[in-house]
Amino acid sequence: MEDIASNPFLRGGFCVETRPAPCSLIIFGVSGDLSNRMLIPALFNLFHKALLPDSFFILGCGRSQLSDDSFRQKVRESCQKNSLPNSKLPQLEEFLKICFYNRLDYATPGDYQALQERLKQMDQQYPGVCDRIFYLATPPGLYPKIVTQLGQSGLTKEAQDRPSSSRVVVEKPFGHDLQSAVELNNELLRYLHEHQIFRIDHYLGKETVQNILMLRFANAIFEPLWNRRYIDHIQITAAETLGVEHRAGYFEQAGLLRDMFLNHLLELLAVVAMEPPISFDANRIRDEKAKLLRSLRPFSAKEIGKNIVRGQYRAGQINKVDYIGYREETGVARDSLVETFIAAKLYIDNWRWQGVPFYLRSGKRLARQTTEIAIVFRPVPHSIFAPLSPGDLAPNVLFLNIQPKEGISLMIQAKKPGPKICLTPLALEFSYREIFGNEPPNAYERLLLDCMLGDHTLFWRRDGMETAWSLFTPVMEAWEKNPAQYQPALYPAGSWGTAEAENLIQADGRYWLV
Ligand code: NDP
Repeated sequence: MEDIASNPFLRGGFCVETRPAPCSLIIFGVSGDLSNRMLIPALFNLFHKALLPDSFFILGCGRSQLSDDSFRQKVRESCQKNSLPNSKLPQLEEFLKICFYNRLDYATPGDYQALQERLKQMDQQYPGVCDRIFYLATPPGLYPKIVTQLGQSGLTKEAQDRPSSSRVVVEKPFGHDLQSAVELNNELLRYLHEHQIFRIDHYLGKETVQNILMLRFANAIFEPLWNRRYIDHIQITAAETLGVEHRAGYFEQAGLLRDMFLNHLLELLAVVAMEPPISFDANRIRDEKAKLLRSLRPFSAKEIGKNIVRGQYRAGQINKVDYIGYREETGVARDSLVETFIAAKLYIDNWRWQGVPFYLRSGKRLARQTTEIAIVFRPVPHSIFAPLSPGDLAPNVLFLNIQPKEGISLMIQAKKPGPKICLTPLALEFSYREIFGNEPPNAYERLLLDCMLGDHTLFWRRDGMETAWSLFTPVMEAWEKNPAQYQPALYPAGSWGTAEAENLIQADGRYWLV
């Protein structure tokens, strides 16, 4: 019989999952939307998969007066609503036993002293639990206040023998512009070291985003083609059918540039375009991402409005359902100039990518929910299939489907049965669901686990974050200074965005593939 272990083609795979050391997770703003829809269900799923540490507890914090039991009832409801098939019920009761609640006013020093006492008591109940992770799931204005209180009460102090025994997870948005991001970093770094800070971007927790790293750096066949010689251009689309939903207050301040573009799309761009890191180590990967972001060509004043365009959805239909326009949504100003759509053309000034355009597009209330990257290769240099010319043969395209149909497909030209010369594009496809049988894990599961492991690979580092802001802050300033000139063009809900976004790519003789 074939020796599977010694035959590299038959090996079943190589999996490394490390169970984190005992720790506790303290969630500020635990009554909020993020905790209910994302964090609590993700934690329950990790519990169900036996991936949480042997000794572990969750302490939810908020301003309401709640007993542990009433908090557990909220956790139960959140799990049932978001993640729990009935079969898991016995595990849910077990999970609830590690959930606790602590009332706290975010700016009151005495409440942090009380929190410290409570944590000390709980550490006694949970043997070996020394590491603490503080998750800031509150409105962003509270981040500096909470970290200051944590710092002043000694809760951010690291144990001498365990650097990063105290960690802080910071949700997006991380600042409002370059200056506020720098100020926020300075505030956090008064009480924390960089290695204690986990700036979260949930896009990076998606399996398919991580798979880009595996595709590029665990396979030898792609890297030689991954450059200006073989790649014509790259498109990244992150489209949502959802509108602003119940988050109008936040979105009116943020807009799509801050909400999606500057973080999620740039992260996808960085993972696709960065140089090979020397190892799968958090700082080596983040070095390469930061280097890549620094190579992005800033938009000149002339290019704003041409190479970066914005839009706002008006009323329209998606799948025959009527939707109102952005300005009609509850909580949105009737004359709002906030963008719900952006398309941009970016260039990377380095040897690998010189002259290769990266077309990025993202928006709300678009025709279909999808996040996809299309790597479009150059056409064949010469056609031997006369009368077809090279331009008649559709170029190869590698699609990396991030969500919802997670997978990879490579478009190739193949012969169609029949006449002697009859070519047609075909897809070589790999679907996560078909191969692995179930949905990829929720991104927050991966990210929470990585925080517990102290692994920063999927989190923003200060330099990368500030570089991203420095690229887009001049654009936002131009929009704010000249609202009439740059007001967002309207697009109907259910379309693929504005005419300007079509022109942006068609002017180069190309078109959006998604
Ligand atoms: P919420 O608006 O739901 O607020 C979370 C909690 O913060 C509230 O339940 C409340 O808890 C507490 N809070 C304290 N002060 C205030 C205040 N002045 N106004 C409102 N709430 C306050 O936020 P989300 O849960 O939606 O988001 C939390 C963080 O995560 C934000 O920074 C957000 O940008 C980010 N985020 C959220 C996503 C989402 O899908 N919701 C997605 C990605 C990021 P209590 O009353 O118990 O003290």
